[in-house]
Amino acid sequence: MQVNLHRSAPLADTDATFDDFLPEALQRRSPAALVDIGANLTHASFARDLEAVLARARAANVDALIVTGTDLAHAEQAVELARRFPGLFATAGVHPHDASHWDGALAAAMHELHRLPEVVAVGECGLDFNRNFSTPAEQERAFEAQLGLAAESGKPLFLHERDAGRRMREILRSWRDDIVDAVIHCFTADRDTLYGYRDLNLHIGLTGWICDERRGHHLRELVGEIPLERLMVETDCPYLLPRNLPAKLKGRRNEPSLLPWIVREIAHWRGDDDATLARATHDTARAFFRLPAGDGAIDTGHAQLKES
Ligand SMILES: [Zn+2]
Repeated sequence: MQVNLHRSAPLADTDATFDDFLPEALQRRSPAALVDIGANLTHASFARDLEAVLARARAANVDALIVTGTDLAHAEQAVELARRFPGLFATAGVHPHDASHWDGALAAAMHELHRLPEVVAVGECGLDFNRNFSTPAEQERAFEAQLGLAAESGKPLFLHERDAGRRMREILRSWRDDIVDAVIHCFTADRDTLYGYRDLNLHIGLTGWICDERRGHHLRELVGEIPLERLMVETDCPYLLPRNLPAKLKGRRNEPSLLPWIVREIAHWRGDDDATLARATHDTARAFFRLPAGDGAIDTGHAQLKES
């Protein structure tokens, strides 16, 4: 197993500047460092310019990124990215959409990944009864198996739930004492579900969904009811481009450098200021994912690239 040797990079570089990919109106630097807890950087749309994407994240004061692993191939790619770039960490799991592929071999492969220091959470896993790309029975089977892996590894869970809040709560209640922590990423559900998650002492991840005036309305009224110390923020990039951006972005791909716009929207609806929210969510994320102390900076990593 390879051990990371590049864990002593300096904290977020205050000299980092934006390139001209983002229109000037979109170049927003967070007043305090942020962690993007949900970045799908293994998505094909980032293959061409990932280093520039990371440099812009740093300019926006995003100093750590959790790269989401949604199946075996993507989890392995996420680990590769975490090895190449300081400030990047990986999750490893099987998304409910892919739950029908769950079997013993996949479980064994996931178990191995969860032992790696680069992997800071089990997931993305959970339940999605909205689209049912895998049947509910297949989803529950894969989900429970991954809860077992999380219990075994002692690592927190990165959870996906859509239209399955009641079942999710039932299952999590029976596992709650065995797992350390869990975050419901991209929370979009209703008040009852939120309070159910609060009762289970779960964390909540918020995306740019709240910036969408067409479907984020109910969230605007709810976000103030999420305890500050339970809240984390994420782009879920390249998906969910925030709709509060003051300028058009060519390609319409969401990226981590846009996280300050999401924080701004959440802060507004909570009645917090950006800096307070940034600091709190940053501290929460670093503790939740047990990120190594002293490792803050995303480095574009030219010196550490293993291949050219
Ligand atoms: Zn998800």
